[in-house]
Amino acid sequence: MSELCFLGTGGSIPAEGRNNASLVLNMGRELVLIDCPGDAYGKIKRLGFDPRNIYSLFVTHIHPDHVYGLPALVHSLMLEDMSLLLYGSHETVRFCKDLLNLFCLLGEKIKCRIRFKPLEEDQYFQIHPSLRASSIRIPHSSSSLGLDLHFKEEDLSLLYSGDTPVYEPLFKRNSTPEILIHDCSAPSRFFKQFPSLSKMHTHSLALGKMALESGVRCLIPIHFFGELDYSMEEIEIEIRKNYKNRLILPEDLGKIQISRSLLE
Ligand SMILES: [Zn+2]
Ligand SMILES: [Zn+2]
Repeated sequence: MSELCFLGTGGSIPAEGRNNASLVLNMGRELVLIDCPGDAYGKIKRLGFDPRNIYSLFVTHIHPDHVYGLPALVHSLMLEDMSLLLYGSHETVRFCKDLLNLFCLLGEKIKCRIRFKPLEEDQYFQIHPSLRASSIRIPHSSSSLGLDLHFKEEDLSLLYSGDTPVYEPLFKRNSTPEILIHDCSAPSRFFKQFPSLSKMHTHSLALGKMALESGVRCLIPIHFFGELDYSMEEIEIEIRKNYKNRLILPEDLGKIQISRSLLE
């Protein structure tokens, strides 16, 4: 049985109760971590998991709110005899290596060994033995990759956009993802007020439209900006103007069982 857990659901500036966005997939015993801001080690423990069970880490891109916790995580695991696979674009993997080197966290004294796995766009890989993955180009930054996952046991597909503007090719791939976790940084009125946001992020009205058109069965918006004044009700109302299938507005440290009942 797999679980999807949220270490954070906020945007680049955290809000009270919403830390920077990152996810953990609990694959039974082993964990797959997606992005690594802040105190990932402490938050994984608060979820009731053992950080020594992290099997792999996928870093979507190298903006600070997605990667600044990496040295702290490896430092906390430095005495553990374990290895950890680190995936990302070539640019991301290079950056992570440099960041860890800066803190002398790749030396022989560090028992937790990082195996760096740079990815091309549209590359298939096994992020965990029960989880097939492929990377997707995302036009948010030159380092950005999204993640398309297939849970073997549950026979379910899940796509995580990472930070992204509205990007049609995300939905013109081989098949529509059943579960979509997507950038939903703010309601549309803020994108009218600050038009440059549209180049980097997605608003809730556009996300609802895209989710409707693509036939997604379960939508999980994430990366809510903490510095703007709006409510989650406003986000929900905008999404619901178009999208009628299952909608989950996640909370920090929330857990969702991965099962086909999410599609009902
Ligand atoms: Zn971000
Ligand atoms: Zn970003």
